[in-house]
Amino acid sequence: MSFSSKVNYLRISVTDRCNLACCYCVPKDQISLLTHRDIARYEEILRIVRASCRLGITKVRITGGEPLVRKGIVDFIQSIAKMPEIQDLSITTNGVLLEKNARALKESGLKRINISLDTLIPDRFRQITGKDLFLQVWKGIMAVMDQGFSPIKLNTVVMRGVNDDEIEALAELSLKYPVHMRFIEYMPMGNSAVDSAQQILIPEIKRRIEQRAGELIPVERGINDGPARRFKLPDALGEVGFISPVSSHFCHECNRLRLTSTGTLRPCLLNNLEYDILTPLRKGATDREIEALIMKSIRNKPESHHLGMVNSERIESQMFSIGG
Ligand code: SAM
Repeated sequence: MSFSSKVNYLRISVTDRCNLACCYCVPKDQISLLTHRDIARYEEILRIVRASCRLGITKVRITGGEPLVRKGIVDFIQSIAKMPEIQDLSITTNGVLLEKNARALKESGLKRINISLDTLIPDRFRQITGKDLFLQVWKGIMAVMDQGFSPIKLNTVVMRGVNDDEIEALAELSLKYPVHMRFIEYMPMGNSAVDSAQQILIPEIKRRIEQRAGELIPVERGINDGPARRFKLPDALGEVGFISPVSSHFCHECNRLRLTSTGTLRPCLLNNLEYDILTPLRKGATDREIEALIMKSIRNKPESHHLGMVNSERIESQMFSIGG
């Protein structure tokens, strides 16, 4: 099957700004933030989304930077939710601003929420993210649970010597809460403060959970499932899932296209290839020309990334600028 017939998922980064500075995401040197003018305006993004929908996009995820720091985000989400082609609309957030936005997000038509949660220890949260906001995030998670969002996925990037001693405790959150814990392999990108040697691959993570909490029982895949392999601990309310972009990549089933906050289309997260769509749009491109650019980007989607292989190309961009 060619990629053009299966790309149905657009991930949109609405900002490069974030209210946290996670050690694995931002560069260890000074970040040069973009100016207002460099960032695609909501009307511009909506035009790209409409064109994408005409080409088969039915799923959208809003990400960043931190999407909830951008002014007007709830109305923007609502505009996407109203598009008749959109069957699934989700957000990835660090949770810091969730408590105060939980209700408005529910009313906006947003369907699903993923929240980053790398630790349950407040002091460690501060070390990983640079801010003392663990409690704020936890209250945000509870607030969206109260609003009835389901499933709520909690994403953990596991790093040796940073939070790997919490793998089991994080997995066990799914015993008590109806959350889907998602363990993600650290992807070395840009110039982050985390070393490749700190990467822990999924087989080790899974083994450690099973040693303490019992056998992980496979959960049948749903039609809208992403790349996570899903499991349940015995008698758990929630689930445990594993995303292994490095140890067992899922490129052959990748249905994603990414739009960065500067208006470039990125057909593969882990490949430097990008197509500027914002400049032509600002210069007056027609809807047909916009569609042609989107198609070009989909057609040139690399068959596979090379992360983890010897002499692989270095990924220049930092995750916060693409959106994960
Ligand atoms: N600010 C939001 C958040 O924290 O969820 C959205 C943006 S963040 C870039 C999206 C996801 O990328 C988060 O779940 C984060 O943990 C993940 N991420 C960032 N850098 C990563 C890396 N180097 N390897 C693996 N995952 C990473």
